Amino acid sequence: MFKLRIVWEYIRTLVLKNRFNSREALLKWQEKKIKRHLQWVLPRSAYYRKRFETLGIGRWRELPVSEKRDMMAEFSDFNTAQITRDEALSTALEAEQSRDFSPELRGVTVGLSSGTSGHRGLFLVSARDRAIHAGSMLASVLPGPIWNRNRVAFFLRANSNLYSSSASSRLQFQFFDLMIPVKDHAKRLSDLNPTIVFAPPSVLIELAKLQQAGAVMIHPKRIYSVAEVLDPLDQANLERVFKQTIHQVYQCTEGFLGITCQEGTLHLNETSVAFQMEWIDEASGKFHPILTDFRRRTQPMIRYLMNDILTLRRDPCPCGSPELAIEMIEGRADDVLEFPALSSESMVSVLPDFVRRCFLYVDSGVEEYRVYQPRPGHLEIYLQCKSAGRSVTEQEIQAEIVKLAHKFQFKIPTIEFQSEFVLPKMTKLRRVEKARP
Ligand SMILES: [Zn+2]
Repeated sequence: MFKLRIVWEYIRTLVLKNRFNSREALLKWQEKKIKRHLQWVLPRSAYYRKRFETLGIGRWRELPVSEKRDMMAEFSDFNTAQITRDEALSTALEAEQSRDFSPELRGVTVGLSSGTSGHRGLFLVSARDRAIHAGSMLASVLPGPIWNRNRVAFFLRANSNLYSSSASSRLQFQFFDLMIPVKDHAKRLSDLNPTIVFAPPSVLIELAKLQQAGAVMIHPKRIYSVAEVLDPLDQANLERVFKQTIHQVYQCTEGFLGITCQEGTLHLNETSVAFQMEWIDEASGKFHPILTDFRRRTQPMIRYLMNDILTLRRDPCPCGSPELAIEMIEGRADDVLEFPALSSESMVSVLPDFVRRCFLYVDSGVEEYRVYQPRPGHLEIYLQCKSAGRSVTEQEIQAEIVKLAHKFQFKIPTIEFQSEFVLPKMTKLRRVEKARP
């Protein structure tokens, strides 16, 4: 039953990919699916039933947004599987301790996410939800038809039963635990010689170095960057070493939200999720996504506000997909930096993207960097660059930040350069980060 569902989802995804010849047609189809989904959800989720009390299903777009903290506070009413917060939490914590990574509660997998902003999240996924995810994922990531032989290398925190569920004889999956240093995986990875690699950018960077040093020999047809924000500088480096486009999967505990097309453009996964925008700055196309997932049933996401920052791509993608194209995904809203304003007492907020661009514009060889803001108006910059030109590079970066200060009208920050750069092993790689309160 489970495998059948995966195959069905695989076919559905491929069919839908070519079904809509206009954005209007896609949105019209979405609207119908969302209404049908709500008819299923409302009798089963007290949380949404209450929220829709004075609002007809047809006006779902006006529903006030929900956030992770709402989902956690009203966990038991929120989900449609009658699972209480206490039983989910104790199941998840027990599993964490015994390193059982797919604990189930009455057939529903319970997951715990640390969350980048420190809010702990509890996630529920049924077998049906999982099959939908696996099937649509396979249809999206496999470079050719499903019967082609593929060897897939996944770098994951743990062997998640999401992916092992889709293994078959032609499709081979191997898992590489992120808890183990990348170099210790070198031999097994080279032996597998994967056709597809899924890994966070920090691991891909490590792999690129090993590949250049001859310690790893792989020739993947596709490389997917997952789980962390892919920095443009890293992307360029990785593409140079592996001589191919670095693809991206936009996926998180909230669902499978987007993937790059053959052109390398990230498209939102609008055949499963409807996206609306909470604009941060409409002129530059930056927004927080409000998602309505019309496939996922156990923990329904209806007008769910995420704190990721997406930048809309203005010009149409040459691939012709009617799904929204995204220029880039930025770190969570927590990493917006703050600087004292030039001519008032207030603070100026600067998106991480602008800070990252300072490094993009520096000619001389920046190899690695990390910007940390311990307090407003102060920056610590860890920099690794070609040793010869270090002082020049520092000056160039300083100059870029001064330009940024002029542009945004904030006081020029004090900058402390540091040469020791340690790639975070366990935490997510963030290039631009602010001290947590
Ligand atoms: Zn495209």
